[in-house]
Amino acid sequence: MSDTRTILMLDGDGIGPEVMRETRRVIGWFSRHGGTGYELSDGLVGGASYDAHGEPLTDETLKLAADADAVLLGAVGGPQWEDLAFDKKPERGLLGLRKELGLFANLRPAVVFEALAGASTLKTDVVAGLDMMIVRELTGGIYFGEPRGVEELPDGTRKGVNSLTYTSGEVERIARVAFELAMKRGRKLCSVDKANVLECTLMWRQTMEQVHADYPNVELSHMYVDNAAMQLVRNPKQFDVMVTTNMFGDILSDCAAMLTGSLGMLPSASLGEKSAEGRVPGMYEPVHGSAPDIAGKGMANPLATMLSFAMMLRYSFDDGASAETLEGAVKKVLAGGARTADIMETGARQVSTTEIGDAVLAELEKTGP
Ligand code: NAD
Repeated sequence: MSDTRTILMLDGDGIGPEVMRETRRVIGWFSRHGGTGYELSDGLVGGASYDAHGEPLTDETLKLAADADAVLLGAVGGPQWEDLAFDKKPERGLLGLRKELGLFANLRPAVVFEALAGASTLKTDVVAGLDMMIVRELTGGIYFGEPRGVEELPDGTRKGVNSLTYTSGEVERIARVAFELAMKRGRKLCSVDKANVLECTLMWRQTMEQVHADYPNVELSHMYVDNAAMQLVRNPKQFDVMVTTNMFGDILSDCAAMLTGSLGMLPSASLGEKSAEGRVPGMYEPVHGSAPDIAGKGMANPLATMLSFAMMLRYSFDDGASAETLEGAVKKVLAGGARTADIMETGARQVSTTEIGDAVLAELEKTGP
């Protein structure tokens, strides 16, 4: 074994432990067959952490996350924690991890697998072959801007305030992530803003233009967010990489998720700033939640979590070849007709969480590292 990497596994709640269990098997396979060994450790987050410690994220988990080479997270949340105060809710655990680890860049690919093109609510020819990446700024913008809050006015009415704020430094660092990605893909970057109405996003647009000077081989375009929402459902294949603010990205990435038709298939990565030693902090997680309605029933689709590990291989461990091996195995499993209930269609074969895990491992065995 030439190299060892450490991964913190945060199973979380609901179907989290089920989808992570299958992904552990896949990580084990790469440990045995690749040039890199993966050493796994475990931590608690979300409702599981609240039940054990009264907090959705403890200093202990944060330290484990900061010390690991990368973090893989299942999902958090569930009805039993819904009535807790905001700072105790399972989702606060996720926000805390993102903030403390400085994970400012959220990468959400929207890829339509050939075998699943019919699963989208859009016409098959609109989405077939779609392969785009949305880069969302994750630690700034209106979700964090000050001042914020709700105040009582002298006349007895109330005023709510949230502030959209970005510094040019924050825009520049997300721009560089997006340009670098575009360089590795189709060299097209679309920056989404509302520069005709919001001064802050006019500055965003101007900063994108400045950074573009360092990436002359990337074609940069700008689009207003209302048009981008429309274009995503009209002709999504016009996009290669899209970069946008925290709130616009939150909304547009969910819209893009539905183009693929299957929540259980979508991975994501949240990345921080490269350290002097060249290490990029990264947390990887499926886009879906804890699916309490199917937890414990053996029905959960673990492919989004496995594909999140593929993103980890590519972005944290610079191992695009292994990422492609894993993505290829998933494609073959789907082409072979195996489906968990969420992506089931006529003529396919319905399988359980463990059975689809078995199928991916069998494909990996066939393909080899
Ligand atoms: P959800 O994503 O958990 O579920 C939505 C629907 O999709 C459900 O019918 C569910 O059964 C199905 N589904 C989701 N993932 C699936 C998978 N892998 N395989 C098969 N089916 C799947 O969203 P929700 O129901 O709105 O939220 C449930 C809980 O999850 C809430 O507490 C919410 O706050 C939390 N949540 C967490 C995250 C996260 O951890 N990143 C994200 C979204 C929601």
